[in-house]
Amino acid sequence: MARYTGAVCRLCRREGMKLFLKGDRCYTDKCAINKRNYAPGQHGQGRKKVSNYGLQLREKQKVKRIYGVLETQFRNLYEKAEKMPGITGENLLSLLERRLDNTVYRMGLASSRKEARQLVRHGHFSLNGHKANVPSMIMQVGDVIAVKDNSKSSAKFKALVENSTRVAPKWIDASIEKMEAKITALPVREDVDLEIAEHLIVELYSK
Ligand code: SF4
Repeated sequence: MARYTGAVCRLCRREGMKLFLKGDRCYTDKCAINKRNYAPGQHGQGRKKVSNYGLQLREKQKVKRIYGVLETQFRNLYEKAEKMPGITGENLLSLLERRLDNTVYRMGLASSRKEARQLVRHGHFSLNGHKANVPSMIMQVGDVIAVKDNSKSSAKFKALVENSTRVAPKWIDASIEKMEAKITALPVREDVDLEIAEHLIVELYSK
């Protein structure tokens, strides 16, 4: 599947905020948003008024980039969110949060969602004791995600555990030492610590 493979810091600069796409670097002074917080390109500093449609589109792009989801997958999740009880925009964020790759990232076992996706694809995780290598799987309450036994002793995971400083959100009961976690609740809006105006995405897709 085609994925954006260019310089990811440009994406943050385009959205005018940190999207946390580069792991540890995002928390340092080297972050491009700290140094050059304006859109990339020749006219990056000269961009002016944006239409309502433009704002809606940018918000959608931003969220897709944060979670590393392509248009078709994003649209499918949106349709699923629409059918759920409650507020569509919040349902959409909850579904994105509950993706397996994001859950691994939130557990603190990857420095970025991109890294989490790669670790999942490489088959390092199990879900309820079964192989789980599909990053887009949606977690349910009671699910147990764990690093597979033969991966636990790898240098990669030892380093990830040693360097992990992230505290898991309250909907995940995570043990970084055991390299496993249980989903104890569904994430709600306040669990999403990102500046997102999800109503703009709903407005865009409702046209
Ligand atoms: Fe975005 Fe991270 Fe690059 Fe900063 S370092 S611009 S947050 S990807």
